[in-house]
Amino acid sequence: MTTNLLDFDLAGLTAFCEGLGEKRFRATQLFRWIHQRGAADFDQMTDLAKSLREKLKGKAHVTALPVITEHVSSDGTVKWLFDVGDGNAVESVFIPEDDRGTLCVSSQAGCAVGCRFCSTGHQGFSRNLTTGEIMAQLWFAEHALRKRLGREERIISNVVMMGMGEPLQNYTALVPALRTMLDDHGYGLSRRRVTVSTSGVVPMMDRLAQDCAVALAVSLHAPNDPLRNGLVPLNKKYPLDELMQSCRRYLEFAPRDFITFEYCMLDGVNDQPEHAQQLIALVREYAGNGGAWCKFNLIPFNPFPASGLLRSPANRVTEFAKMLLDAGIVTTVRKTRGDDIDAACGQLAGDVKDRTKAAERMAKNRVIPLAQV
Ligand code: SAH
Ligand code: SF4
Repeated sequence: MTTNLLDFDLAGLTAFCEGLGEKRFRATQLFRWIHQRGAADFDQMTDLAKSLREKLKGKAHVTALPVITEHVSSDGTVKWLFDVGDGNAVESVFIPEDDRGTLCVSSQAGCAVGCRFCSTGHQGFSRNLTTGEIMAQLWFAEHALRKRLGREERIISNVVMMGMGEPLQNYTALVPALRTMLDDHGYGLSRRRVTVSTSGVVPMMDRLAQDCAVALAVSLHAPNDPLRNGLVPLNKKYPLDELMQSCRRYLEFAPRDFITFEYCMLDGVNDQPEHAQQLIALVREYAGNGGAWCKFNLIPFNPFPASGLLRSPANRVTEFAKMLLDAGIVTTVRKTRGDDIDAACGQLAGDVKDRTKAAERMAKNRVIPLAQV
């Protein structure tokens, strides 16, 4: 079996080329051909010596994931379903806006965290994606869109690790992918334009701070431990106090940054005035000398049948946002994009051969909205 070069960051590709008896700068050339120009055919790489091209043909390939489906939303959002083998499929979503193009990337086939309100969580977990499978989503999307739109310049300006999976439970594969996104010879994205979103895997947040301090979004969803335990089961392992301390430590490595707290608004569950008050107290408790250190992104819940949960009414979201804003906390409400093609947050389901009996577990631990008690 030959090696997929999408599996390597530049350091990895350099080691691979050195193993072939090639000089380091050849790896840089090759890396640029692959990521900046979207080349997969070694014969296209005309400034590489013929002998190297022949060597590469015997030992390596550059291969994207097979596309199962592509949907284009009326708002321009594009969703791809990629085949990752053995009956598993993952999704990526491209969201065009006036001043940016964002790609939402998956890190796992399924997810083992099992959040109540997340359709990926309900599907259970199959396996981690490799670095190559994470990178293939960006490589394919960037170059397919360039071809389609007839553009030579970069289209994807931001990457968010907010597709299927918990990126920090796939750390070893994640980091080389992030490095390729940031690398000037790769996608050249700035540290603040690449976001890792996590449900709160505390030890890995600490490692990420040291290895590759990209923008961090933390899926908070609840202002106290009992409620968060029911919504994000990982909270039982890493409760709020540990999570908030880890967020503070992260900022020491990411100066002048904010932590973004994501908060999915669930009707009657976490959207009451007392929840907003508790959040304000929580933010203040951990503010230290940092002043404004976080911002909130309220996400109107995107319902799916098995969840048994409902979206908070719009006026409740506005009132909740106003309470946070009045307390001096930067707060935005996320616009829902691509919901006509099930591409909105938490609707990414792909196909997952569950190995964790997630549906059974979910049925046992239902969260009952206040309105139904
Ligand atoms: N596992 C990571 C990243 C993937 S989920 C995490 O949990 O952060 C990306 C974001 O979508 C998270 O903030 C998640 O809480 C949110 N989300 C999940 N299901 C949702 C739903 N049904 N409606 C709205 N947002 C949802
Ligand atoms: Fe996993 Fe994130 Fe979904 Fe929770 S919200 S189940 S961590 S993908």
